[in-house]
Amino acid sequence: METRLEGIGVSPGIAIGPALVFDVDRYDIPHYAISDADAEIARLDRAIAATREDLTRVYKQTAAELGQEHADIFNAHLMLLDDVAVYDEAVQRIRAKEGNAEHVLHVLTQRYIRTLAALEDARFRERSADLLDVMDRVTRHLLDAERPTLATISAPCIIVSHDLSPSDTASLNLDYTLGIICDSGSVTSHAAILARALEVPAVMGLEHASSHVAPGSLIIMDGANGIVIIHPSHETIEEYRSAQAQQLLERRALELASQTGPSVTLDGSVVPLQANIELPLEIPSCLKVGAQGVGLYRTEYLFLNRSSLPTEEEQYHSYAQAARAFSPLPVTLRTIDIGGDKFVSHLQFSREENPQLGWRAVRFCLERPDIFKTQLRAMLRASAHGRVEIMFPMISSIDELRSVKAILQEVRDELDTAQIPYDREMKVGTMIEVPSAVVLAGWLAEESDFFSIGTNDLIQYSLAVDRVNEKIAHLYEPAHPAVLKMIRHTAEAAKAAGIPCRICGEMAGDPVYTDLLLGLGVTCFSMSAVALPVVRAEITLANLEDTKRMADEACTRRTAREVKALLRQCWEAKNARRTYLSSLAQEAGKKHHD
Ligand code: PEP
Ligand code: MG
Repeated sequence: METRLEGIGVSPGIAIGPALVFDVDRYDIPHYAISDADAEIARLDRAIAATREDLTRVYKQTAAELGQEHADIFNAHLMLLDDVAVYDEAVQRIRAKEGNAEHVLHVLTQRYIRTLAALEDARFRERSADLLDVMDRVTRHLLDAERPTLATISAPCIIVSHDLSPSDTASLNLDYTLGIICDSGSVTSHAAILARALEVPAVMGLEHASSHVAPGSLIIMDGANGIVIIHPSHETIEEYRSAQAQQLLERRALELASQTGPSVTLDGSVVPLQANIELPLEIPSCLKVGAQGVGLYRTEYLFLNRSSLPTEEEQYHSYAQAARAFSPLPVTLRTIDIGGDKFVSHLQFSREENPQLGWRAVRFCLERPDIFKTQLRAMLRASAHGRVEIMFPMISSIDELRSVKAILQEVRDELDTAQIPYDREMKVGTMIEVPSAVVLAGWLAEESDFFSIGTNDLIQYSLAVDRVNEKIAHLYEPAHPAVLKMIRHTAEAAKAAGIPCRICGEMAGDPVYTDLLLGLGVTCFSMSAVALPVVRAEITLANLEDTKRMADEACTRRTAREVKALLRQCWEAKNARRTYLSSLAQEAGKKHHD
């Protein structure tokens, strides 16, 4: 029987395929008496050897496909597997006839986890996750139970999981990942952002999907509308297959039609559209859709999924690679924004009650100048290979901006002394994502070369709605009048200081808000590559004077519902133009296809 679930559509696209339930906890550990301890130890040894083979294979594959930095985590897992203390104690317990190997391992693992948890240090909590991961692999070999790993899936599937960390998402095998379905998460969780960047359809916030879906069941998912259908009927499959084919055709047509020129409004204003990237592997898809540079490079992704910090050289190569690929267009490197929902296992993150309000981004960097300066050196050195810009996340005061800029100046001086080349004209911008920065936008603008509004965090902090908590996802409202006024205030401050006001939060890639943002005074948009053609089409069909009038009207509306009613009305008014563009695009698509 067909079952329909509704969640939050976080990455568009229709996918149809079998479910791969990514849930490493789903099996019972049997406990039984053993008569032959030697045979049981031999069974344990075989499981460990098989696990070592698995891990080595995954390590090599990841290094080849995604680079050394992503492979390091598996190296750390190999080291855990070789931990002699755990092995010796397991053997001792088997000899003492405490039970079968998987039971003994389970007891030992739980004891270690409890000890680590008691240490109340995030590093150790992450170590627990690693230990669980490795022990799970061994146990599955003992039980002959297949373990799903996202890096090694070898047939097309839709991944169904309770939760997906940014690291899980970064290690996806893109050749076979048709889509992602998660119980938790929302539009702005980093797994969702990465899914969009990798152009994988995704639905999150489904609450209990992972327990509803049996492995291998056929699923249809619609990432734009947040719909998941389990065991669809033949009619439903047919319906979605033709919608899927139509979407592919339209998308290709739109890409072609919208690629042919710069994004210019009907009344002649040029509005640069840039791409957000997390990893260098996204560069080709940004170039394909004609991004005019990178407006947000989330450099912290280079720090995830590994057991040690990336070296200056490694960072320099990644940044220089992007700078060269886009030159002479700009690449905006954001300094590391770790903390919040992005943790780095080997750094000293202690447990925080409110990580989103905690030791995050520049707050972390100012306390770890060693890590910060290394990154800044790599960024400055990369600036010699293209047009690099730097921007600082989570700035909440003038002091903070001055402190990070002072450190940047120290690094510049060091490079001067060492006669290492860098771009002396490099622009330095401030992200506006904390309400206090909006209030001080006039002063911050005087000390910045540009602003970039991070609406994901700005909405989170203005409305006091945790961006990754699905329980309150309905309160996360970009159309909230307070959000509109903050964007307008920021844009006005930028204009008064003569600097660009860019936007790089997810709102920038949602075509529903394109005209409103233009009218509020945003001068450049940065978004995931997948959103770029659609937003470009909206800009091509917009009239700047109309959008200003619309934004003025929107700023008089007192509730989000009233703002949305206005957006809908304006959207419908543009429908005739949209139909015309789409007929041109379809024509272009067909010609290209023929
Ligand atoms: C934002 O907050 O809008 C943003 C672009 O930064 P991130 O999503 O990486 O926090
Ligand atoms: Mg942010």
